[in-house]
Amino acid sequence: MNCYIMTLFPEMVMGGLSASITGRAMNNGLLHVEALNIRDYSLDKHKKVDDYPYGGGAGMVMQAQPIYDCFQSIVERIDGNYRCIYLTPQGKTFKQSMAKQYVQEENLIFLCGHYEGVDERVLEEIVDDYVSLGDFVLTGGELPAMVMVDAIARLVPGVLHNDDSAFTESFENGLLEYPQYSRPEEWRGKKVPEILLSGDHAKVDAWRLQQSIERTRILRPDLLADMESI
Ligand code: SAM
Repeated sequence: MNCYIMTLFPEMVMGGLSASITGRAMNNGLLHVEALNIRDYSLDKHKKVDDYPYGGGAGMVMQAQPIYDCFQSIVERIDGNYRCIYLTPQGKTFKQSMAKQYVQEENLIFLCGHYEGVDERVLEEIVDDYVSLGDFVLTGGELPAMVMVDAIARLVPGVLHNDDSAFTESFENGLLEYPQYSRPEEWRGKKVPEILLSGDHAKVDAWRLQQSIERTRILRPDLLADMESI
């Protein structure tokens, strides 16, 4: 899986993704992440990438030319299919089901906006999907891009040491995951539920499913309503 991230802050993106599991996946060749500095593609002698919005208003707008040239430099050298994703609060909210679809792609190109946003004309030209992290406004698209790459990368076969764990977690079956416990058996007077010590896998599975349903009913009843409407 190849992820190309168009950004004004490549060091932020690479710094975050080079750590922990995504970093290991990059070192093992399971994941290729490349952050491209949009500023490097500016034709302006001062490497300017933004300007005032036509019609007035607050802030600056990222200009079309550097983004378009940055995008072209990527598509010219990649093999196979790609999707270009613009991170924006105006997009479809990112969900686990979307991560499962994106992991099927060979190449993902992310565009991180900054300031007031991006000239609409380049978005019309290059973007396939508009994706949001949620109903709030961030200063830039870098954190959302990193979140998406992390969520997608852990679904690449081999990235997690135990591939099963990607398929038993919250949202996989439309439910939240059951509560987890580790050693010691008792901590501050709280005991691990007896059934988890029983060694009876069928009973453990049944208990976990019942806990998942109960937890989802209390914390995310909207997920159960979604399942009922299918
Ligand atoms: N003026 C834009 C609007 O009102 O829709 C918001 C611009 S925001 C300050 C700057 C950049 O941060 C956006 O271009 C986008 O790339 C990113 N961004 C902000 N909030 C986001 C969110 N919730 N999800 C994804 N990207 C976001």
